[in-house]
Amino acid sequence: MTDLNRYRDIEQYRKAFPNSAKHFEEAKKYIPAGVNSTARTIGAGWDPFPLYVSEGKGSRVRDIDGHEFVDYLLGLGPMLLGHRPEVTTKAVTDHINNVGTVFAMASDLDTEVARKMTECVPSLEGVRLNNSGTEAVIYALRLARAYTGRKKIIRFEGMYHGFGDAIYWSKHPSDDAIVNGRHIAEPQGPGLVEEIRDSLIILPWNDPEILEKTIKENYNDIAAVISEPIMCNTGCILPKEGYLQKMRKLTEEYGILLIIDEVITGFRVSLSGAQGYYGIKPDLSIFAKGMGGGFPVASLGGRKDILDLIDRGDVSVAGTYSGNGIALAATSATLDYLREPGRYEELYRKCDKLREGLDKMWRASKVPAFCVGVGPVFQVWFSEKPISNYREAKAFARGDIFALWWQEMLMRGVLFHPHYYENLFVSMAHTDEDIDFTLAKAEEAVAAIEKKLGL
Ligand code: PMP
Repeated sequence: MTDLNRYRDIEQYRKAFPNSAKHFEEAKKYIPAGVNSTARTIGAGWDPFPLYVSEGKGSRVRDIDGHEFVDYLLGLGPMLLGHRPEVTTKAVTDHINNVGTVFAMASDLDTEVARKMTECVPSLEGVRLNNSGTEAVIYALRLARAYTGRKKIIRFEGMYHGFGDAIYWSKHPSDDAIVNGRHIAEPQGPGLVEEIRDSLIILPWNDPEILEKTIKENYNDIAAVISEPIMCNTGCILPKEGYLQKMRKLTEEYGILLIIDEVITGFRVSLSGAQGYYGIKPDLSIFAKGMGGGFPVASLGGRKDILDLIDRGDVSVAGTYSGNGIALAATSATLDYLREPGRYEELYRKCDKLREGLDKMWRASKVPAFCVGVGPVFQVWFSEKPISNYREAKAFARGDIFALWWQEMLMRGVLFHPHYYENLFVSMAHTDEDIDFTLAKAEEAVAAIEKKLGL
């Protein structure tokens, strides 16, 4: 495995962030790995310690060492409106102060939010709120199995669909997980029940022939295909022309449900998600990060005849906190904001300027690198070759150069996630000045990286 820190100046990092280093030592006494999610650990790239935030506002965050950053980490996606967006914050605080948070009773706001969601996303004939993408995925898989009476789920290497036992397999599998050319389900860690392996079919993404062959040979056993519409959990990888359409056609033909996981792409790539952007209509969809303006909420929705299983009480979709007041108020206000005319046009104008600017800069440099993404979600790949699936990313992408790029930008006041398998996110609060600042700093960083690599 490559040493991701090979080119980084760790001493410079320690010197720049002494308070973060100190606070992390204290945290480790009480919190396993010192943080509350895997994506914030040392192993995820925050090496030798994560940065400690003091506050965020709009496109900016500050750390406890007194730095200010233009933020493209954005909480790994939820802050589509920027930090502390006034519309959402006000709606939530008003709701807490005037109404309350959890009642285990029905409210008109439940209906209002569901109605707005179905208006935004044509494939949603009904929708249930959940608290996280993980929960929504677990329910989607259960519904698919209950609806079809079949057991197996096709899932693609390199994607992440949350940490539920049924699906936390083969996110980033090892070379051993290919046996005689076939991809074998590999648990993403210990503690997963061995028998679950039989319920999964693991495929490389972006390969229509393998998908077709697998479906034709196994359709009697396959309940669903689950896929991100854009692979956003192995950097950013776009679907090949016609691939999603082929996935849709094949699943429809063989009575298999298509579950599109829009946890990252939903309400970000367009108001109707990546499914709207690419023109596909899934049977079930999962939305999360983009819908709540930074508050914890997710949703599961889709075809009415599938959701009828919930209607009839056959499949239970539960949760004490599902559709709580905070989630409802946040989603309702966020959707109102996103539905205002021109929001996405303005977002794309700025994102395209940034992504295209960075792409041009890298392609003109001596470092083999390029940008891949759609509007407000993208990644810089350091690679000699194009990347169309997880195995290619694993073979070609240079995480060590990425880590250097990350630190060079961090030191210049631009923040994003340190790992090359994550993404850069742009919010609606980012300004032209932010983009110009980022491009200017990137130009300096590119020169510094060329020098460091001796190019
Ligand atoms: N699906 C996808 C595509 C995701 O990217 C994520 C989280 N990054 C999840 C599901 C899980 O969502 P959550 O973290 O809200 O459980």
